[in-house]
Amino acid sequence: MTDLTCRLYAAHDLRIEELPEPQAAPESAIIRVQRGGICGSDLHYYHKGGFGPVRVREPIILGHEAAGLVESAPENCGLRPGQLVALCPSRPCNTCAFCLSGKQRHCLNMRFNGSAMRLPHEDGFFRSRIAHPVVQCLPIEDGTDAQAAAWAEPLAVCLHALRLAPSLEGQKVLVTGTGPIGAICIALARLKGADEIVATDVQDFTLGLARQMGADRIVNVISETNALNEYAAGKGQFDVVLECSANPQAIAHAIDLVRPQGTILQIGVGGSTDMPLNLIVGKELRFLGTHRFDAEFADAVRMIGAKEIDLSPLVTHVLPVTDGVRAFDIAGDRTRAVKVQIDFEL
Ligand SMILES: [Zn+2]
Repeated sequence: MTDLTCRLYAAHDLRIEELPEPQAAPESAIIRVQRGGICGSDLHYYHKGGFGPVRVREPIILGHEAAGLVESAPENCGLRPGQLVALCPSRPCNTCAFCLSGKQRHCLNMRFNGSAMRLPHEDGFFRSRIAHPVVQCLPIEDGTDAQAAAWAEPLAVCLHALRLAPSLEGQKVLVTGTGPIGAICIALARLKGADEIVATDVQDFTLGLARQMGADRIVNVISETNALNEYAAGKGQFDVVLECSANPQAIAHAIDLVRPQGTILQIGVGGSTDMPLNLIVGKELRFLGTHRFDAEFADAVRMIGAKEIDLSPLVTHVLPVTDGVRAFDIAGDRTRAVKVQIDFEL
């Protein structure tokens, strides 16, 4: 069987190509990829050729959310053929000051699969087989399927974000943006004992799934313009905002609706935006950024394996790699897609 990949040459120039066999490398396993999830950053590469200063400057294999079966692995490395593993895309240098202080996510020499940050670019997971470092192949509980295991990376992002937030137990939580990350945050906020979860977006379709993931109330901010007014009372009612949209209006709205000394956790990524410093200062808000994950990847794998979280309702489409271009086109359509997974098994 020929190995296939989705390789991006430039914006809207994604090609399904044959790949040579992966070469076994020391301390690496050969993984037969089963499922890969298309992420918002993959879509930025596909639609715009990158985001911010990160541009596609040479052909790149996309994908940093995937799971597959071990085909072969070095002896006594802890992996056995046929075992399902989640692939961790984060490969820090382990020698820089950040790595040595346990903050590998800030590594100065980070190699992240499917990222065009560095040149040469780091190829990603969207291919039939890959040679991947053994330590970045995390076995998941037997009985888990690849659909679920491929959620480890975005779940890790959300677990790390919530680790930076105050406890959500008994709190009123606003989640702005109900794409995959917002939807996962809703599920986690529910698990962590939030008292009330309100979710906002501009798409009824994604809001419907947000409800399914545990939101108490969903608000389409276009068709229900005044629905959130009650939460602005008394300088704001929400204890914590999980901002997953990176939309400037949503951020401004969140600042109005969060209570004094509340927290806004900025999870969505965007460019520059105006900020009402008077409100941030006057309300003594905590405005926090969050970046990727470290140990949370292993936590995510454990949670998925233990079936503590079920993200399968968010998988709206699964397409074979041969239909990879269509998969990317559908993934960009928020009226009907949340998570599109590519099936690499032919
Ligand atoms: Zn480092």
